[in-house]
Amino acid sequence: MQLVLAHLYPQHMNLYGDRGNVLALQYRAQKRGINFHVVDIEMGQDVDWHEVDMVFMGGGEDSHQAMIYEDFLNRKSRLSESLSLGLPMLAICGAYQLLGHEYVTADGNRLEGIGYLDITTRAGSVRSIGDVVCDGVLSLTPKTLVGFENHGGQTYLGDLAGPLAHVRLGRGNNGEDGTEGAVQGHTIGTYLHGSLLPKNPHLTDLLLTWAIKRRLGPDANLAPLDASWELAAHDVILRRVKI
Ligand code: GLN
Repeated sequence: MQLVLAHLYPQHMNLYGDRGNVLALQYRAQKRGINFHVVDIEMGQDVDWHEVDMVFMGGGEDSHQAMIYEDFLNRKSRLSESLSLGLPMLAICGAYQLLGHEYVTADGNRLEGIGYLDITTRAGSVRSIGDVVCDGVLSLTPKTLVGFENHGGQTYLGDLAGPLAHVRLGRGNNGEDGTEGAVQGHTIGTYLHGSLLPKNPHLTDLLLTWAIKRRLGPDANLAPLDASWELAAHDVILRRVKI
């Protein structure tokens, strides 16, 4: 079988090795005999969302977000429709912010988001930088997610968005309410770089599971695949922060 991943704005939105998330998805799909095809989508490039099984968009500095957000807004209705029909999406940091209603930068620039996730983001007085360890709320084994955050934006969840996780170490969405990231349906937004998926194979497999069930039906399942190396990397972070 084949899965198609649309990688939005790989040139402008790719901080701290975010592309490693795409490689992790591709690696764990291909090891299971799935033909995993990545389509890079840059500004102005059209996408037929019906041909796509998953979407990934990485983080970006404020200046890069400002470059792409109007193009991203043009995709609002067709992308939102596909997401609401269960198309899985992973959005990191700057992309997470633009999936929400708005991001107001430290300079007072208002970058309108596509408003699919019920979140709003404003630049805070403190920058959130460092390792993050959190407990995921999705059905994940192990429960923990590890990563690295570096953002000025502070994100607040509205009623429709649930948190992806609760932080044990780090600041997460805003440094106040203990939440990290957001989940709505099969759309995940998070501040975790790292890259996130190479050290969190359980989250990689959840995204792949969502994609194959959407393609083949609810009874389809991902074949088991060893994740001991990836989980060893995950556990190194847990041990390093002594949690
Ligand atoms: N520019 C955004 C912020 O600082 C996002 C940064 C990022 O993607 N790491 O909040």
